[in-house]
Amino acid sequence: MRKPFIAGNWKMNKTPSEARELVNKLKEITGNRTDVDMAVCPNDVSLQGVVEELASTNIKVGAQNMHWKESGAYTGETAPGMLADLGIEYIIIGHSERRQIFNETDQDVNRKVKSALQYDLKPIICVGESLAEREAGKTKETVTFQVKAALAGVRSEDIEKVTIAYEPIWAIGTGESASAEQAADTINKIRKIIAELAPGKESEVRIQYGGSVKPHNIEEFMSKPDIDGALVGGASLEAESFAGVIENA
Ligand code: PGA
Repeated sequence: MRKPFIAGNWKMNKTPSEARELVNKLKEITGNRTDVDMAVCPNDVSLQGVVEELASTNIKVGAQNMHWKESGAYTGETAPGMLADLGIEYIIIGHSERRQIFNETDQDVNRKVKSALQYDLKPIICVGESLAEREAGKTKETVTFQVKAALAGVRSEDIEKVTIAYEPIWAIGTGESASAEQAADTINKIRKIIAELAPGKESEVRIQYGGSVKPHNIEEFMSKPDIDGALVGGASLEAESFAGVIENA
């Protein structure tokens, strides 16, 4: 019913030429698949090249961040309309690195989600607890707060355009993934929140797991009915391993 969705978050990696090279390999291996939705999210300076390389494939392109304003005096920022004009489909919003390193707040996340939807960009909203929050038994409380804040004021008919990525911070880039049970337990809670916010939409919104997803562990996550795919960091930086995640999903 919900199509699996695997997205690669390249973070601040790959030059524009490396990006073209990577997606050229990727499209040869997996570019024609139709049973899984696929996306890569390069850095802004590589977006145009990657859009060009992937033009006649089924692999979509996403950006990693944007400003919520339409335009103006915001030196160094990228506006949603600029991304939409390039043919960008997805936008990662509220990644824990943005929240922690760049002090993005839940209010910023909410503004960006609403702005993205206005420009027909599909948000991938990242939520997840820190290790301290998990150890204090506050995982569900944290994630509930983040999801509700991110979706505040979003119209019910727009909610199905949103993907939620549950990414426990302690599992990101550490090689230590959450267990499939831990991920499914929190993701099930997120689905209940969606049901509360937009009754009926809980069966449509895709919820990914993210945090040290690799070709060898994706199958376990995908075996859980509530987990619809993954947001993949490290393993998306090589065509073979990202294609491996897609294949095993
Ligand atoms: P990771 O990153 O797969 O390298 O843990 C995931 C993410 O930050 O989206």
